[in-house]
Amino acid sequence: MRQLTCTGPGQLEWRETPSPVLASDGEALVRPLAVARCDIDLFLARGLFGCEEPFALGHECVGVVEALGDAVRGFEVGQRVVVSFQLSCGACASCAAGHSANCDRMPTLSDYGMQPLSGVEYGGMLSDRIRVPFADAMLRPVPDTLSTAALASVSDNVLDGYRTVAPHLAEQPGSEVLIVGHGIPSIPLYAAQAALALGALRVDFASADPDSLDLAKRLGCRPVETDFERPEGRYPIVVDAGLSPAGLDYAIRSTRPEGILQSASFYPGVSPGASVPVPLGRLYTLGIRFFIGRCHACALLPEVLELIEAGRLQPQDVTTQVVGWEEAPEAFLEPAIKLIIERDE
Ligand SMILES: [Zn+2]
Ligand SMILES: [Zn+2]
Repeated sequence: MRQLTCTGPGQLEWRETPSPVLASDGEALVRPLAVARCDIDLFLARGLFGCEEPFALGHECVGVVEALGDAVRGFEVGQRVVVSFQLSCGACASCAAGHSANCDRMPTLSDYGMQPLSGVEYGGMLSDRIRVPFADAMLRPVPDTLSTAALASVSDNVLDGYRTVAPHLAEQPGSEVLIVGHGIPSIPLYAAQAALALGALRVDFASADPDSLDLAKRLGCRPVETDFERPEGRYPIVVDAGLSPAGLDYAIRSTRPEGILQSASFYPGVSPGASVPVPLGRLYTLGIRFFIGRCHACALLPEVLELIEAGRLQPQDVTTQVVGWEEAPEAFLEPAIKLIIERDE
């Protein structure tokens, strides 16, 4: 089968690889139909996390079930599914606690399409077939009313945006929210959408990027154009989503005393081994609660899909480019807030 492969920094090509097969009765094989480019993918493709050997790209997809092990319940061959980008078992203590990103049975950072991070090649979504080792836990059915392309980014960036605000707005309903987007394109916009859907009083969107500010405005936010030098005000809930220490500092200075600062940043702009300065004295003095960590895809998929099915969240409004499957190697390296690659069939 064919698989989009990164063979070096900025070098993508279709490669022939052996097709995966079912290795146990709890597994599934899925044919990806629509793949979204995650905010981390451009950095991976450009070799920022290293590229010692060729690796498969793509980890956000909606696909169709091609084969199922005998022990998998609740799914059928031919059914459309969202596939968790993180591999997790659904049965260990961490998974049971909702911490599926850190499944006890899998090595850290076990994700599709991110071999440079985990050191393990699980395959990528830009391929003819992927193996899903824990089908019951990692697959969610796609409701008939929803389009394949609309859900392509749900398994990662959409739910990543959602989880930056959902618990905090549940604790402080109707709060004002500030989203600080500084270099990763789609997660801050999905966070803004989720904050509005979850009843934030107002959502301000701070960014230096005109395209992001325009889109934030169309989604219903108040755009705040900034160079991250001087904060506009202070907010009870602030989301840091980006890659620059200046953006994080702006987010911290924009957080009200006793407020919540949630970071979804992975700081790829900071060279490996380097530290990002955090003014702990300020956080301490003002009692700012700082939350950081990866999203938990398997645990969050059901509630995010429910919100989308109810029409309260429309991830397709953040999509800025849709291309055909054959265009993937070129399109994948071009800037776009949210790129979706769709198979025509
Ligand atoms: Zn991702
Ligand atoms: Zn687990």
